[in-house]
Amino acid sequence: MTTGNAMHELVRQLYPITRSITGNGVRETLQHIAEHIPVELHEVATGTNVFDWTVPKEWNIADAYIKNEQGERIVDFKKSNLHVVSYSVPVKQMMSLSELRPHLFSLPEYPDRIPYRTSYYSESWGFCLRHEDLVKLPEGTYEVCIDSKLSDGSLTYGEYVLQGETEEEILISSHICHPSLANDNLSGIVLATFLAKALQLNPHRKYTYRFLFIPGTIGSIAWLATHQEHVKKIMGGLVLTGVGDSGLLHYKKSRMGNSRMDAAATAALQESGLPHGVLDFSPFGYDERQYCSPGFNLPVGSLMRTPHGTYAEYHTSADNIDFVSPKSLEEGLALCQRIFAIFEGDVVYRNQFPFCEPQLGKRGLYEAMGQVPDEARQLQLAMLWVLNLSDGEHSLLSIAQRSGMEFSLIRKAANLLVEHAIIL
Ligand code: ZN
Repeated sequence: MTTGNAMHELVRQLYPITRSITGNGVRETLQHIAEHIPVELHEVATGTNVFDWTVPKEWNIADAYIKNEQGERIVDFKKSNLHVVSYSVPVKQMMSLSELRPHLFSLPEYPDRIPYRTSYYSESWGFCLRHEDLVKLPEGTYEVCIDSKLSDGSLTYGEYVLQGETEEEILISSHICHPSLANDNLSGIVLATFLAKALQLNPHRKYTYRFLFIPGTIGSIAWLATHQEHVKKIMGGLVLTGVGDSGLLHYKKSRMGNSRMDAAATAALQESGLPHGVLDFSPFGYDERQYCSPGFNLPVGSLMRTPHGTYAEYHTSADNIDFVSPKSLEEGLALCQRIFAIFEGDVVYRNQFPFCEPQLGKRGLYEAMGQVPDEARQLQLAMLWVLNLSDGEHSLLSIAQRSGMEFSLIRKAANLLVEHAIIL
């Protein structure tokens, strides 16, 4: 099985689970992830104050339906968990169509899709259904049942720390609160899981990688509130979301806009040769809103394909398993690996011969550049840039940016110079 197919298979396994910002669906999802990486479950109790927010009651649901006068389930949670507005309070009642109507949600512009809706912070209930089914409902009496429970419990998140040679950290975050939606965000969850698996295999990791699988907004707020000192260690990070569709890859910059993370992600996209877009920071989207809130201002960007809310399948039943492809998932993984290879390789050196240029010929460096004239010439130029800017202040990535050369070429030139102890 290709890596892309293995990623897609995990999307398929996680797809049916009823997730929300709290509840057993999150735990079950994390247990699946734990078959791939040793993710730890953490619980934050209902009622815990986290900055301006409070961890809500835990929501669980066993069943929900609307039955017609013949006793047939015309809306059935067992067929799709999108049918129930997430966090609906329990209901068991007979009611007329006009009483029921304010609680029914559909998409007239996409009559064959079930919308995805939530009501986390105001007590209400509702059903989502296909518009083509809604318009067919006859007058009459309906049996409405939502067998849900809102109770004191906790918010669950998953965390996996892959220790590196230093305590400096890279944060990888993906939201885990959406039910049967594949691109948003099983794609991000699966990409994070497979990135962790891939990074584990690299024995020379300078950075410690922290993977968070958290409910959107309240999860990152809860984590930040309980790790306020810890965040000083974060040197870079990515929010992974919506990476499985067939659109262009997009990197959204951190609030800083000029962090090493921004430079590494931009360089990786350029080097990948894939068509792509780079977006400036904006205070909407996913958990980058919290990581990049002014009090934290962390160097955390976001990787996605088509930006959220701008594709027609977004937050509907059309965001299904077939909407994400093995190829897109695998490309996302390869790109993440490239980004962190660049980040890891972005070192600051000091030229040991800062007074005029060192003589490259007598050290055999011209032969080391290879026999292909064009390549040798490019490598020589890269070497001169590295020599000139390695003054203890410029990192290799900043040298690549300033020279307009690819990071991989700058890195190769630096390796040769290090071998000959010209830069250290
Ligand atoms: Zn969403």
